[in-house]
Amino acid sequence: MNKNSPDYYDEIKQRFRKERDVRIEHRPEGRKQYTTDLAPELDQYAIDPQSEIGAARRPLNDRVEVLCIGGGFSALLAAVRLREKGVASIRIVERGADVGGTWYWNRYPGVACDVLSYDYLPLLDEMAYVPERRYSSGEEILGHCQAIARRFDLYDCALFSTTVTATTWIDDRKVWKVETDRGDCIEAQFVICANGTMSQPKIPNIPGIEAFKGHSFHTARWDYGYTGTSLENLKDKRVGIIGTGASAVQIVPELARSARELFVIQRTPSSIDVREEGPTDPEWAKSLKPGWQAKRREEAIALSELSWVERMTRAQEDGVNAAVKAAQQSLDVAEFNKLSREERIKRQEAANIDHMMSVHKRIDDVVRDRQTAEALKPWYMFMCKRPCIHNEYLPAFNAPNVHLIDTKGIGVNAIVPEGPVVDGQVLALDLLIYATGFDVQKTGTYNRITGIAGLELSEKYKDGISTLFGIHSRGFPNLFIMGGLQASYQFNITDMLQTQGDHIAECIAFARENGHGSIEPTADAEAMWVKKVIDNRGKTSWSEECTPGYYNFEGESNRRQDGNYNGTFRSYVDSMKEAQSQMSDYFTFSNGQ
Ligand SMILES: Cc1cc2nc3c(=O)[nH]c(=O)nc-3n(C[C@H](O)[C@H](O)[C@H](O)COP(=O)(O)OP(=O)(O)OC[C@H]3O[C@@H](n4cnc5c(N)ncnc54)[C@H](O)[C@@H]3O)c2cc1C
Repeated sequence: MNKNSPDYYDEIKQRFRKERDVRIEHRPEGRKQYTTDLAPELDQYAIDPQSEIGAARRPLNDRVEVLCIGGGFSALLAAVRLREKGVASIRIVERGADVGGTWYWNRYPGVACDVLSYDYLPLLDEMAYVPERRYSSGEEILGHCQAIARRFDLYDCALFSTTVTATTWIDDRKVWKVETDRGDCIEAQFVICANGTMSQPKIPNIPGIEAFKGHSFHTARWDYGYTGTSLENLKDKRVGIIGTGASAVQIVPELARSARELFVIQRTPSSIDVREEGPTDPEWAKSLKPGWQAKRREEAIALSELSWVERMTRAQEDGVNAAVKAAQQSLDVAEFNKLSREERIKRQEAANIDHMMSVHKRIDDVVRDRQTAEALKPWYMFMCKRPCIHNEYLPAFNAPNVHLIDTKGIGVNAIVPEGPVVDGQVLALDLLIYATGFDVQKTGTYNRITGIAGLELSEKYKDGISTLFGIHSRGFPNLFIMGGLQASYQFNITDMLQTQGDHIAECIAFARENGHGSIEPTADAEAMWVKKVIDNRGKTSWSEECTPGYYNFEGESNRRQDGNYNGTFRSYVDSMKEAQSQMSDYFTFSNGQ
């Protein structure tokens, strides 16, 4: 493709479409190509390798004011704000054996966040903590979660190794009855569904998975018992990894160093950019004034109002990564803002393609084998899939023991006792790792939630999700959902979770202060929000044209309200603030007990 040709960008877009169509053709079933129902044949992929089944304990039968389902950042952020508002009676019920959520479960080698740690780790002002590195390791993030729990007395109220199985509204007493797999029956006036945007591992529906005779696990359940703590047990093993998304990109360099042979089974490559890694500058850390992180958050919210081009420019100041720098170079903000809408879209597309071509160029520069380099090139717009940043992923393919198995968009056909079958060939393996991701944003639906008059949340959502801010749903008083659909979706998820935690704490404090037994969105407020979600969808055909992935629900395009709120983050935050200042316009209340 010749950059000087007038058809250059159109030709690339055609190639994008072609690659996308291959994916859709081979997996027209969208998200149904995966399963999260891991019991009983697949329950080995769900078991917690970090902890034995929790020690025997008596079932609890008591009452708390607020119960959080889950113990990750969502629960911690909401609980901290509630503590600040004087709520003493809180309980966290968590399936894992500690707080941390994502960072408890994902202990794979190389695990780290992909967002600058100064933004990703929340509550840095409150904790008077500055992360050690620009991108924190999973270990540091888990440690931060534990420190938050200690500092705000959340360990005392946590129930670990316990899974909530049913949450039922008792209308005459205005309480939720929360039941668990340990026989607990806890009453709670308020329930916060903090059970995760990406907490449920998913496994592809490939025929024969259970027939595999080697060892296998999902990346979120890393089995160090098998691999050894430094992966030393893999030195004589043939290891395969299915998937090349964000987890695999972090894991592959580690496996490349340790396995005898590593086979990376790819369907669609990720876009890999430079990770501007390094330790935190001690002088900069010393210069920080109290409230520094809150200021950064304000800036992040303000950024959301700018055009993509302006955001790219501003992001550069933080050295976000080469991705944004490259895109920025080809656009002049002042000039851009004077253009017609059509021209702006064209320019943005061109800048996006230029960036993707710079990603291709880096692959050519780094990966020595031409065929492998070609296969590693992502053919879709930047941000169609979660962009990855890593400095060792691409070089790993230069190692003689690392083999890219490119399935050209088709994927693994079957799994037989010896290993996966790709294009009719059996790949014999000792260890098969599923880096196949998670069910995304099913928050609030992983236990049976039954509201007023026996209505189940899943039943209410059947014909379309219906919420106010993605948090409240009519018919389910005193229930708050975090990280769910119809909420804003931010690249830095904790920014969004924090605004939700703040809002939920405001709602609960308002109900307490005014002696209300329950708070529930009005039908009008909910309808208003659903309309906003729909109105803000489909402004462009962007996600339909993208290669399938979790950002576009694996290519399911006709989703109407069953997605995120795509207005700006600022408007999301402001909408919640407005509701907080005029509660009775948005909510109905019942008298307290
Ligand atoms: C490997 C990985 C890397 C990531 N990196 C980034 C990043 O760089 N930047 C970013 O913004 N986001 C990242 N994320 C997304 C990450 O999930 C969020 O940033 C954030 O941690 C979500 O917090 P949460 O509390 O909402 O959910 P989680 O951290 O998933 O916590 C939810 C908890 O709820 C528990 N739970 C679920 N159901 C039940 C039940 N019925 N009963 C009891 N407990 C239950 C789960 O066990 C889980 O521990 C990453 C995710 C993964 C998997």
